[in-house]
Amino acid sequence: MVLQNPTRKPAAPEQFIVEVCSELPQATMQHRWQHVNVLLRLSMMAGLQMQLDATLNLLCDYAREIISSDKALVYFWNEADEQSQLRISPGIDPEILGTIASGNILDYWCMKFGKPMLVQEGKDPEADKLLNAVGASSAAVIPVLVNNRVMGSMQYFSKRHNAFDKEDAQLLWALARVAENVLARERANEGLILFAFTDHLTGLRSRGYFEQQLELEVKRSERKQQEFVLLMLDIDHFKCLNDTYGHHIGDQVLRQVARVLMEDMREVDTVARYGGEEFVIILPETTEEEGFAVAQRIRKAMENSGFTIPAAANKSGSPQKENLSISIGLSVFGSNIKNRRELVESADAALYAAKNQGRNTVVKHSDIAKKRAQEVS
Ligand code: GH3
Ligand code: MG
Ligand code: MG
Repeated sequence: MVLQNPTRKPAAPEQFIVEVCSELPQATMQHRWQHVNVLLRLSMMAGLQMQLDATLNLLCDYAREIISSDKALVYFWNEADEQSQLRISPGIDPEILGTIASGNILDYWCMKFGKPMLVQEGKDPEADKLLNAVGASSAAVIPVLVNNRVMGSMQYFSKRHNAFDKEDAQLLWALARVAENVLARERANEGLILFAFTDHLTGLRSRGYFEQQLELEVKRSERKQQEFVLLMLDIDHFKCLNDTYGHHIGDQVLRQVARVLMEDMREVDTVARYGGEEFVIILPETTEEEGFAVAQRIRKAMENSGFTIPAAANKSGSPQKENLSISIGLSVFGSNIKNRRELVESADAALYAAKNQGRNTVVKHSDIAKKRAQEVS
């Protein structure tokens, strides 16, 4: 749905992703029936009340009946700290735990892609760093899901090269899907449901919440015959910042952007992370001109805020100020746009136009539509 930057090259971690099916292939069922039985055993645990760590430990145990792995790390999102937290680490040298307590690169990728990954030594420097620290040559990384959201990662390591194959990934994925029911039904952690509506990284509303809210707003707007505005925002040149300073700094920038967006928003406005470095804002009962003024205010606030790169992340060893800007696309639900999909696509098209116009700018979809009409006539 979101228009891609045409110059974008595939990122390195994508090479590790394994595409899996929702059902197990017949061949897997036949020659790995003992492992399929492990899944069945897990599904029968759904009624038991357990603590989260206990459940994760159990999952790990079951996984290691399916694959041969001597070491594992399991991360789960911690809402209070707003970061991933290492929950269990069977077989891992306690000496290294301090450095990876709040997430590692595999956990980061897993949260980002939400898919199983088979990671090999010698393909990516960041992955290699972790594999070396753990004393492994390959890893299988599987998302931990709750209510269809990635809440963490299970990482299994082996000293052997290419120790895991696609079938392992498929079976572990099935294990994670069965575990999802266990985790959701038990509500091992009280906050899990709330998690589903909160974006892990920024604390903003999640995309799922946004979609729901948008539907409600469309109905309300139709009932009251009142317009509302959708803003779609995207950080300018974010990849460059990530590449220069690393994704941890990129994450800090995302949180800062979220803070700026939240400042001076009304209680009724919905500010959500749409994905990656894209955000959406619903402004109920708002006209195009009012929405445009809000968008300009946000754009300027972002420009003025900049971002200070901490000394530790900087080659010069002293804090450094970086420019920060966003581009914004605006569309209005009402007279011309009459459904949700069209509204989102129009805001997206306006955002794309803002990027083409040089970034750090706000574009109204109605202006593009007018221009297009003039070109046609
Ligand atoms: P443009 O001005 O055209 O928007 O350029 P851009 O570099 O911002 O856009 P592009 O789509 O090429 O890059 C987006 C980058 O955002 C690439 C991806 O690595 C990064 N990114 C996406 N999600 C996250 C995240 O959760 N954390 C961090 N640190 N980076 C992320
Ligand atoms: Mg983008
Ligand atoms: Mg961008």
